[in-house]
Amino acid sequence: RRDDARRRAHEPAVTRDGTTVLVGANLGSPEDARAAHGADLAGLVRTEFGFLDRREAPTVDEQEASYRAIAEAMDGRITLRTLDVGGDKPLDYLPVAPEANPFLGVRGIRLALARPRILADQLTAIVRVAHDHPLDVMFPMIAAVDELTAARRALDEAVEAVGRGRPAGLRVGIMVEVPAAALKAAAFAPHVDFFSIGTNDLTQYTLAAERGNDQLAALADALDPGVLALIAATVRGAGDDVLVAVCGELAGDEAAVPILIGLGVRELSVAPGAAATVKEAVRDVDLGSARDVAAAALTCPDAGAVRALLSTERTVGG
Ligand code: PEP
Ligand code: MG
Repeated sequence: RRDDARRRAHEPAVTRDGTTVLVGANLGSPEDARAAHGADLAGLVRTEFGFLDRREAPTVDEQEASYRAIAEAMDGRITLRTLDVGGDKPLDYLPVAPEANPFLGVRGIRLALARPRILADQLTAIVRVAHDHPLDVMFPMIAAVDELTAARRALDEAVEAVGRGRPAGLRVGIMVEVPAAALKAAAFAPHVDFFSIGTNDLTQYTLAAERGNDQLAALADALDPGVLALIAATVRGAGDDVLVAVCGELAGDEAAVPILIGLGVRELSVAPGAAATVKEAVRDVDLGSARDVAAAALTCPDAGAVRALLSTERTVGG
């Protein structure tokens, strides 16, 4: 199976019944692009790499150079997520007032909107690269439509500042990682080209279980039916015109692939080295049975029951 995966790494991932599922790579640095063997695209570029371990924010030119390097290293579209830091990932030059609960605090888009200069510079660098490469911009930690409206306005201003019109291949999306955003997907849909579900944070917020807390690891399982119900709600709200992707770690869990596809997800973005094997997992899926498994998973009491269901499916279905 590994050999098959390697041999077919550069072919598209198509289910048994002919549904294409894009498989992308999550990149945490320009170097990661080289490890993204077989990925159709970069479904999540964590742009924090350019901002960490520095005394001041990177300039527009510095950011443009690193985003351009990523775009040139990847075959397909790249999805640049705007800066996603806050009290949980503090930066010296971006101080945040002390917070009792940084994961519920001024992080992600909240911090970016509070520091418009930082966001404007980043969007300017992104727009410059978008004139030469198919590119998606994605906003993190969106909870309210107002935040998206403000972020889109900042993007329009960056387009204006660069002064060459709107780049033809520029698309806009949000991360769905706050439960309210999943439940309100229909309100966001008219304003985006895609949703990308961040199951790491979505799981943390859905189960009120801090990610990275070892004592809560069993509870904070992204296959919890509560999380799956929010993925289903996102797909429902997205309608026919908005693509739904998953870029959290769940996308790279081969066992979860049939459920995600059965729920209507059509893009998976995973750790760079996992793209080829996830493509193989997609090729094993039959959409009809995947829909049945997804429906059954939604009625399970907990993640353990969902995992048990998946392993029976695999033995029975071969
Ligand atoms: C997520 O929350 O699932 C996600 C992909 O973003 P990050 O892991 O960078 O918070
Ligand atoms: Mg996240």
